[in-house]
Amino acid sequence: MSVDRELDGPTLLAQLRGWAEAEGFSQIGVADVDLGSAEAGLVDWLSNGFHGSMDYMAAHGLKRARPAELVPGTLRVITARMDYLPRAAPEGWQAIEWQRLARPGEAAVSIYARGRDYHKVLRQRLQRLADRLAEVVGPFGHRVFTDSAPVMEVELAAKSGIGWRGKHTLALHREGGSMFFLGEIYVDLPLPVTPPVEAHCGSCSACLDICPTQAIVAPYRLDARRCISYLTIEHDGPIPVELRAAMGNRIYGCDDCQLDCPWNKYARRSALPDFDVREPLGSATLLELWGWDEAEFLRRTEGSAIRRIGHARWRRNLAVAMGNALRAGLDGGIAQALRAAREGSSDLLREHIAWALAPR
Ligand code: SF4
Ligand code: SF4
Repeated sequence: MSVDRELDGPTLLAQLRGWAEAEGFSQIGVADVDLGSAEAGLVDWLSNGFHGSMDYMAAHGLKRARPAELVPGTLRVITARMDYLPRAAPEGWQAIEWQRLARPGEAAVSIYARGRDYHKVLRQRLQRLADRLAEVVGPFGHRVFTDSAPVMEVELAAKSGIGWRGKHTLALHREGGSMFFLGEIYVDLPLPVTPPVEAHCGSCSACLDICPTQAIVAPYRLDARRCISYLTIEHDGPIPVELRAAMGNRIYGCDDCQLDCPWNKYARRSALPDFDVREPLGSATLLELWGWDEAEFLRRTEGSAIRRIGHARWRRNLAVAMGNALRAGLDGGIAQALRAAREGSSDLLREHIAWALAPR
């Protein structure tokens, strides 16, 4: 409906940037809708089965690489970056995370998930951006996305200069690292596009080398079936036995490839309080979290992305981490807590508890 309208693109873009900054975004880009060069990679990734049981990744077929098919009329995609390091993250936050990962009795929750559910934060704010835009240009066709399966977020981010696609497959930026969320607004406005930035991975391979499960099977190629983020969050079933030991104490997501990325010394703190750590998620022991029954899990994770995985997967992940703590020589009541939970557990959890308690 707005294909033919006359726009003062540069002025609109400058306005958009101002509104975006006020909403806590640190960068805005605009991509056209030609993702043709990414199609082959997507088809190849899916045909290798690297998406595991994330059937929704395949469900939209090539619409993922064709924004104008997903949302008819789309001419451009406004891309947005929102930094999520908590405001109180101290200098040397990476070292603190490595230390936590080295303490087997503690629970490691991915940094992005310790605060408010980012889906809600980004969606609301992207919609407000679209509303501001409509106040200036009049009603226009649009749809807002964040972390949404039908959207090739990193490709769009790279195309529009939000960052380059790192060898770990996430977007990263020289002045912002990779600790950020991405959001998109598909629009039917002919906004001016913003250019991509140069890639700066060079000969670095730190993310490939550090990955505990060798999930980055080649530069720019992630086998999600091996990735701890996928296994602890997306995967609904038993954790493959051969990958359990490598999970260590990671019970929700994994940050290792980002922690080791040299560009994350430039990662930025969030401008918003939403991603402040909701304790105890930044400091809990495995035993403390194991003590949450379903009602407490739901109460404690209200408004958090963690709630989406449900109590069953949460307990499954904890059982693996507790087994790893026992294997590291720690007990302090862990074995007893596992044994006490066997009775009445689901088959899935019972099997993970049995693995955790198995003689080593
Ligand atoms: S998130 Fe963890 S498991 Fe997944 S690729 Fe990165 S380092 Fe590997
Ligand atoms: S760790 Fe190195 S190779 Fe991996 S994304 Fe960062 S700069 Fe690129």
